[in-house]
Amino acid sequence: MSRYLNPLYKDLIPYTPGEQPQNRKYIKLNTNESPYPPAPGVLDAVNREEAENLRLYSDPTVMPLKEALADRYDVRPENIFVGNGSDDCLNFAFMAFGADGAAFADITYGFYTVFASLHHVRADIKKLKEDYTLDPADYRGCGKAVFIANPNAPTGLSIPVSKIEEIAQSNAGHVVVIDEAYVDFGGESAVPFVKKHPNLLVVQTFSKSRSLAGARVGYAIGSEQVIADLETIRYSTNPYNINRISMAAAAAAVRDRAYYQANCRKIMAVRQYTKDALEKLGFRVLDSQANFLFAEHPDYSGKTMYEQLKERGILVRHLPGKRTDNFNRITIGTKEQMDALLKTVEEILNS
Ligand SMILES: *Cc1c(COP(=O)(O)O)cnc(C)c1O
Repeated sequence: MSRYLNPLYKDLIPYTPGEQPQNRKYIKLNTNESPYPPAPGVLDAVNREEAENLRLYSDPTVMPLKEALADRYDVRPENIFVGNGSDDCLNFAFMAFGADGAAFADITYGFYTVFASLHHVRADIKKLKEDYTLDPADYRGCGKAVFIANPNAPTGLSIPVSKIEEIAQSNAGHVVVIDEAYVDFGGESAVPFVKKHPNLLVVQTFSKSRSLAGARVGYAIGSEQVIADLETIRYSTNPYNINRISMAAAAAAVRDRAYYQANCRKIMAVRQYTKDALEKLGFRVLDSQANFLFAEHPDYSGKTMYEQLKERGILVRHLPGKRTDNFNRITIGTKEQMDALLKTVEEILNS
């Protein structure tokens, strides 16, 4: 730390991203990327003409993409905010709506703690139950902003949208943010309820189900007033937060829905296959509705399993912490990748 740093940030502990090795040495199952390439329409949209246009600023209104999303989710463009990854949306939501604090789970997306600390939002940590499920009652009428990942990460567990409605209804004075990064893998979306609850904000991303993690595009759907607040912050930081190439790629991705639905179906089938196989090998595997599994083995610490897999060329995510230490979060890749994982796990167990 330099002596010049504003004391406001002296205790800030930044987010630790998953390892991103820049070679092809590993079967990479550690950051929940899609094993499939972006849709054919996306590859066409990211073309020479778009590259030539890079001399021009991008469209600060993000209108073509907002219109495509509005059409897809049956809302108006005024109900949509677009961020540089959903991390951008979440960051701005903490900044905008955290005045009375923010409630979120002890085991959830690690960035919530970082954003709370960055913006000096008081974090009200709600412990997941012993079985890692979330008790909606913890959030009912809690008098502050709420952040819930649904399905949750790293557990993959989800709660029904009827519970989310109750939480939104009972916190009418605060914004309830539902982070649906993984909703396309079998979860139930709260988007249809934003019309009824002006304090409900649903955040989604192009990074997981739409194979565009490197493009950095996420979005939030909510009431016109809440979206306007996020826009105020965006125009006060970086109105060009979405670059031209990513904007074109994302708009094309929204239009190619069938391609992505087919990918999600494949991933969900391989998830079930992998879960069954891991359970046969003695793992406890939580009931995931996301594109990853959260699994522990009685004879191995999570860290040992992570290290042994890495030595053998497979990267998974180990999250240190009292209640996550024994587990690893394993992204669902192709069937071939998961077979390689299972074979390697067997080797480790037999060694
Ligand atoms: C991956 C992830 C995000 C962030 O996604 P980006 O859109 O790539 O910034 C947000 N929330 C959760 C729970 C995630 O797992």
